[in-house]
Amino acid sequence: MDFKQSRLTKLKGISEKRASLFAKLDINNLEDLLLFFPRDYEDWTEITPLHLIQDGAVVTVKANIITNPALQSKGKLSWLRTALTDGVTVISAIWFNQPWLAKKLQAGFEYYFHGKVQRRGNKFSLQNPLFFDQTEYEKQKIQAIYPLTAGLTQNIVRNSVDQVLTLYNNYLTDPLPDQIRKDHELCTLNYALEKIHQPQAEYEYQLARMRLAFEELFLIRSALYLLKRKNQAESQAEALLPSETIKHKMNDLRSNLPFVLTNAQIKAINDILRDLRQPKPMNRLLQGDVGSGKTMVAAFALAYAVWAGGQGIFMAPTSILARQHMDTLTSLLEPVGIKIELLTGQTAGKKRRDILEAAEKQEVDVIVGTHAVLEKDLILKKPVLTITDEQHRFGVAQRSALADFDKQFFLPHRLVMSATPIPRTLGLILYGDLDLSIMDELPLGRKPIKTYTATSQDKARIYKLMRKTVERGEQVYVVCPLIEDSEISDLESAETTYEKLSQNIFPDLRIGLIHGSLKPDSKNRVMEDFIDGRIDILVSTTVIEVGVDNPRATLMLIQNAERFGLAQLHQLRGRIGRSDRDSICILLSDSEEELARERLKTLCQTQNGFEIAEQDLRLRGPGDFFGTKQHGLPQFKLINLYEDHQIIQTVNESFMKIIQQDPGLSFPDNQNIVKAIKQRYPEILRGITL
Ligand code: ADP
Ligand code: MG
Repeated sequence: MDFKQSRLTKLKGISEKRASLFAKLDINNLEDLLLFFPRDYEDWTEITPLHLIQDGAVVTVKANIITNPALQSKGKLSWLRTALTDGVTVISAIWFNQPWLAKKLQAGFEYYFHGKVQRRGNKFSLQNPLFFDQTEYEKQKIQAIYPLTAGLTQNIVRNSVDQVLTLYNNYLTDPLPDQIRKDHELCTLNYALEKIHQPQAEYEYQLARMRLAFEELFLIRSALYLLKRKNQAESQAEALLPSETIKHKMNDLRSNLPFVLTNAQIKAINDILRDLRQPKPMNRLLQGDVGSGKTMVAAFALAYAVWAGGQGIFMAPTSILARQHMDTLTSLLEPVGIKIELLTGQTAGKKRRDILEAAEKQEVDVIVGTHAVLEKDLILKKPVLTITDEQHRFGVAQRSALADFDKQFFLPHRLVMSATPIPRTLGLILYGDLDLSIMDELPLGRKPIKTYTATSQDKARIYKLMRKTVERGEQVYVVCPLIEDSEISDLESAETTYEKLSQNIFPDLRIGLIHGSLKPDSKNRVMEDFIDGRIDILVSTTVIEVGVDNPRATLMLIQNAERFGLAQLHQLRGRIGRSDRDSICILLSDSEEELARERLKTLCQTQNGFEIAEQDLRLRGPGDFFGTKQHGLPQFKLINLYEDHQIIQTVNESFMKIIQQDPGLSFPDNQNIVKAIKQRYPEILRGITL
């Protein structure tokens, strides 16, 4: 039977209606159900001796019935009582309103009992315990607990899984080469599939989980590797060769900067230029913490591409950011003769037509824009480089459009930039199809942003600080979690805060308001006013989270800070501390939850994005922290990206070992890897990843 083609309605007890409930859990066929793993187990394997049971505990005991049950009743209530012993201690057991159990509970029978202990004086009893004979117990002592959705019960899922396991004829090929299984003492796939669902001992489900988690990472790692190889082998790009003139121009560009490049920037630029000289398309991720100066790296790459005779595209996720990049590039590159145009959703009519025409004739060198530039009507005469800023902000749909977009052309070199901090070993897996440049250094002279937590009671002092900051000629951000007040929460919205600040607290200062539902034109106007210093205090939502660069802003107040993720707070805070002035970030929160306070404290203690990411992960536990869903990767079913650090490491090492011997994964031993990827992660091979 083909599991992938078989609908769940093939199983007993699964109607169309139930099948649609399973579909909500992304289970649409028998294979999905086979690979639907429990989130936990109820483990009744530990037997408590009767003399050790304690009041209130839920226990499993093994005992003989020593008295025939006595049935008593009062009105509608009835109860059965009997005495149990394990040969040492005697306790009683009581069942309410189940008189029919009497014949099963006769003296002389031995059962496993599972239930809650109650103590009266020095007498212990079990209340309504479940009981099983030896065979029943062996079958049920460890029960898988599955993620559910309304309308499904554990029993329905367990029963369906049980049928699937009975039908399963070991048809899945084990993708892991024998050598790897031996090296890491991993069980076989078929054993793992049975035991992950129906283990009979704790070590069994641990073996199973270990094996399946390893396999999950291993396959994703291999799939991304193959994708990268395929891209490299099949596609061609123009090799951009450096003439003496270009070298001079690049040197001039560098020496005319008002600052020196950081070592990290120089290294990243060199990585990129090296790629651009190859006839293979560059596929590089530039990962740099907030404020590390990624835009400058992009500018150097674009300048090189243009001087080598091509055109470049620089994409940003928001129009605010696109405009800002436009300004940065213009001031840096126009003086050296590079022609740049901005193309966003608001560029319309004749202006738009003119730009498009110029692009097609190569009368413009660089197009900066939002996704609007992805629209089909943009045709460049000589596209050689595309750069995407804040890559993680693009949705999956946009990203696959991007992949298609790339394919329209003789492949341009591609650079993606991201500030999402990801530990290196993990980066190797999530971004396995890309080459990586990391910028872990901030420009010289940056002072650490002093970060404090505060509560509403401190507001008067905070307002004083805000006023002082403005009086010094600096600017302030006030960030709120919501745009407008809502009935279901008492968070202070951006609109309310704006009214309060502009009418009551600072009637004499210039207060601005920006949020996502403003028209793009208004958003741009507010942002320009702020950057040009016509607004003193900007009240905003997270629209300012990405990229915005205003070195004169030195104070940030984040309201209801507990509502934001740590990585997000880190990004927000990165909007200040962008010059050699002192900056202060205040995390306002009245939450008394310990976890919330601890999370905020992390931000006060460090400014290292990688550390913050790890800490966030530790405090929040497993989940979709790195947004693997957003990255277009399949979500991990078993791997917990924080706790399974060791597995991540091991997978990397063993994978490296394999490709050292067999870079094309073409040895017979490795064929099952490729086969399994095609079966289980076809989307990766289609290239829909980051
Ligand atoms: P991010 O990596 O967060 O995108 P930006 O590119 O916005 O960072 O740069 C942050 C700020 O640092 C900008 O104002 C930029 O002009 C400035 N900057 C960039 N590189 C340097 C450098 N080497 N020295 C000093 N300032 C720099
Ligand atoms: Mg940036």
